[in-house]
Amino acid sequence: MGRLVMKFGGTSVANIERIRNVARHVKREVDAGHEVAVVVSAMSGKTNELVAWCRDASPMHDAREYDAVVASGEQVTSGLLAIALQALGVQARSWQGWQIPIKTSDAHASARILDIDGGEIVKRFADRKEVAVIAGFQGINPQTGRITTLGRGGSDTSAVAIAAAIKADRCDIYTDVDGVYTTDPRIVPKARRLDKIAFEDMLELASLGAKVLQVRSVELGMVHNMPIFVRSSFDEPDAIDPHATPPGTLICSEEEMMESHVVTGIAFSKDEAQISVRQIEDKPGVAAAIFVPLASANINVDMIVQNVSEDGKTTDLTFTVPAADFDRAKETIAAARDKIGYARLDSAGDVAKVSVIGSGMRSHAGIAAKAFAALAERGINIRAITTSEIKFSVLIDTAYTELAVRTLHSLYGLDKA
Ligand code: ADP
Ligand code: ASP
Ligand code: MG
Repeated sequence: MGRLVMKFGGTSVANIERIRNVARHVKREVDAGHEVAVVVSAMSGKTNELVAWCRDASPMHDAREYDAVVASGEQVTSGLLAIALQALGVQARSWQGWQIPIKTSDAHASARILDIDGGEIVKRFADRKEVAVIAGFQGINPQTGRITTLGRGGSDTSAVAIAAAIKADRCDIYTDVDGVYTTDPRIVPKARRLDKIAFEDMLELASLGAKVLQVRSVELGMVHNMPIFVRSSFDEPDAIDPHATPPGTLICSEEEMMESHVVTGIAFSKDEAQISVRQIEDKPGVAAAIFVPLASANINVDMIVQNVSEDGKTTDLTFTVPAADFDRAKETIAAARDKIGYARLDSAGDVAKVSVIGSGMRSHAGIAAKAFAALAERGINIRAITTSEIKFSVLIDTAYTELAVRTLHSLYGLDKA
């Protein structure tokens, strides 16, 4: 007997029929003798709708009320799945974040989990053989008593955090693809499913745009050494042998990897915007004059490129921000114009970041250089580059994203045979 967390994303609970299908997946594991906690997302599209309603009601809405609204999607699916399980004769009870409680920081809309009391859930495994059906994405701030949410895609993080809290043997993430691929299989049909991927590589893939797992869930998996298994919810529930290994991807520590490839995968994000501050004075303090106000406005700056000044007097500084913060970032820089002292502000919203990831890059030179040549051959212009030990990213025009991803996918031998 083992203890499992089973997480089902939005498409997996998109309607009542799919929720019934999820109930059969859960029943299979319960019948095999496992203790099960389930974590559910809202029905697909629901969270987007709720977010849009908040914006519609007022663009400058209160973040606490935003959380009160957007957390409701998961309340519905947790109740519905408990009903569907009971209809199959499985003991089940739904749980909201505050009922457990899942305690979080007060950073509304992007709260961090601080503590989870798994005691009652574990007690009910023993006393009543009861499945816990937990609303993902949400928690409560203990100081204010208000509902919080964990940021988009946050149910993955709820699942891994609960798995750690109840000391589960594994956290299964059921989604609409049957594992983690070398790149988004919806963009590159030749993408290959990985049997295993190290936490470190998955962390980079997720943070650079592969939305199959929320970044924070991978971080938590790494900290608690919790094996995460990504698999499909669309497989026929009763055709699966609960004791065999199904198709999917295990995210595990690097030591468990049999072999490591130089390049593990490619991620991309169209969620970028570029700002260039032209002809700023080349003197100490200028970077601070630009980036301190952005930090104060809670705007995350990602890639930064500064030219070495030719005349020793002025230089250009280019950086990227999330597309959602583009207008605010431009306003923030414009407001600090006197302090910064620049001639012109150029910007582009239609840019994308394509990243190549692989912990094997640590010990191999020339990996990035190959990419620059291949992109040039396709006529793709690179606007900015960043590199680190196990990844590099290029900023390009959005229109070339798919071409760039496919080109690099083939270049590094990731295409399936
Ligand atoms: P869920 O609703 O189950 O949480 P998401 O839509 O958040 O599902 O994440 C699954 C999606 O992630 C897939 O449909 C796929 O398009 C996308 N994706 C992006 N990169 C990858 C990748 N490298 N491997 C697998 N899926 C990926
Ligand atoms: N429903 C939330 C979202 O769409 C959380 C999740 O699905 O993980 O972002
Ligand atoms: Mg998701």
